[in-house]
Amino acid sequence: PQFPNEWLDKHGRAFGHFIGGNWTDPAVGVSFETANPATAEPIAKICQGTVEHVEAAVAAARVAQPGWWDLGSHARARYLYAIARKIQKHARLLAVLESMDNGKPIRESRDLDIPLVARHFYHHAGWAQLMEDELPDYEPLGVVGQIIPWNFPLLMLSWKIAPALATGNTLVLKPAEFTSLTALLFAELCQEVGLPDGVVNIVTGAGDTGRMVATHAAVKKVAFTGSTEVGRRIMEALASREIPLTLELGGKSANIILDDADIGRAAGSAIYACFNNSGQECSALTRLLVPDAKRDEVIDVILGKMVRYTVGDPLDESVHCGPMVSKRQQESVTSYIASGIEEGATLVAGGEGMPDGLDSGYFVKPAVFADVTPEMAIFREEIFGPVLSITTYSTEEEAIALANDSDYGLSGGVWSGDEGRAMRVARQMRTGQVSINGGAFNVSAPFGGYKRSGIGRESGQDMIREYLQHKSVWIETSNAEAPNPFVMR
Ligand code: NAD
Ligand code: MN
Repeated sequence: PQFPNEWLDKHGRAFGHFIGGNWTDPAVGVSFETANPATAEPIAKICQGTVEHVEAAVAAARVAQPGWWDLGSHARARYLYAIARKIQKHARLLAVLESMDNGKPIRESRDLDIPLVARHFYHHAGWAQLMEDELPDYEPLGVVGQIIPWNFPLLMLSWKIAPALATGNTLVLKPAEFTSLTALLFAELCQEVGLPDGVVNIVTGAGDTGRMVATHAAVKKVAFTGSTEVGRRIMEALASREIPLTLELGGKSANIILDDADIGRAAGSAIYACFNNSGQECSALTRLLVPDAKRDEVIDVILGKMVRYTVGDPLDESVHCGPMVSKRQQESVTSYIASGIEEGATLVAGGEGMPDGLDSGYFVKPAVFADVTPEMAIFREEIFGPVLSITTYSTEEEAIALANDSDYGLSGGVWSGDEGRAMRVARQMRTGQVSINGGAFNVSAPFGGYKRSGIGRESGQDMIREYLQHKSVWIETSNAEAPNPFVMR
């Protein structure tokens, strides 16, 4: 496609940070290449954010914050609506750029990511408008620091930026080092709608830059999505600060097929529930739990689906699975496939090495393992790639126990011919989300994790409150009939 290249060329394929409404000079300081994971070829140069950049970005956000809040909820809503419309207008450019930089199939960036991003800004424009009437005693926190991962680059940006703006906060956001481009294009769209300078600041770079954003003394809230390990490190770094922190971390979610389920539908959708976004999804349903008696039937259905499941060029709209985001991620997923084989699980599809016909890029062969037991690493650890494990159980209680046998608690699935039964099982799963019979992700409902999957919720009113603090104001009314007990008479 021509136009992502035109946009990249317009910027000389080198990007500075977006600070205080201006671009820093990309030629100054250290930069790194962001690559197309389908080819491993570089796309553009991205700047490594330094302490000076983070200082400047936080300072710009601090200057902008009182004015942004004073604009009032209706004016802020108008900016959010304008951003949402810009995203729709440039949906094609955003989708192709996202697929180039991240490697995700275009059918997902086009039909899921970008439409959901626009929707998220519309949704929060609504919250901005409601705030004045619905939450009159709440105030913004100030400057917020936001750090996002590479798996849903622009979608995670929208989950962070939209609520922060709706609630009158200003922000510094650091995208993941592998996928900065759509965040930078987003900054340009903010300029185009005339968003006041300093309200949104984007500083690019790796983990070190993220640490500087998270620990800056003037940052009054941190929102992080990424690995459990980095989440814990951020929490430790903030232990001596009295600021709220939300963490969206990893998962190892179970998908329970009960014995009365429609096996064709349940097993048929299990592949995509696990392999969506090429398997690089925190809420992927990676552990399929099936009744002993249904094992062979489930595998047959899955193998039937795998025949039509294609891996390849993410910009080809017939492709279901793209490359992993980076060489490191490719190696990590491959080593989990090797460990599954070594620990004695039954490999029923996929395996080590690259898929047939692909010789460059960070591809893996989507794998399905049967006879996976709870001691195996592929049952316990987050793989973050297209690897499905199937474990059998004999009773409903055992299925629930297996589902909850995890340090994580992000998502889950239940399949049953009896909705009441499915609901009773769902209530016993120690996770923040559960889908029954393939129920679709509700983007307006609170999203977050139990256990080591995180702290706090995003989306819905819960998220709005995460960006606000409450103020109680007590007014003396001098009523002699009900004297104020706190006043000496
Ligand atoms: P990561 O946690 O290292 O990176 C996430 C973000 O945090 C990136 O922007 C990164 O630059 C930043 N970061 C790294 N170190 C930091 C620090 N000390 N302080 C502040 N920010 C820091 O994730 P990764 O290494 O890219 O991926 C590793 C694994 O994490 C994956 O294999 C997967 O299991 C998990 N992961 C989970 C999610 C999710 O949505 N929950 C997303 C991405 C990755
Ligand atoms: Mn990239």
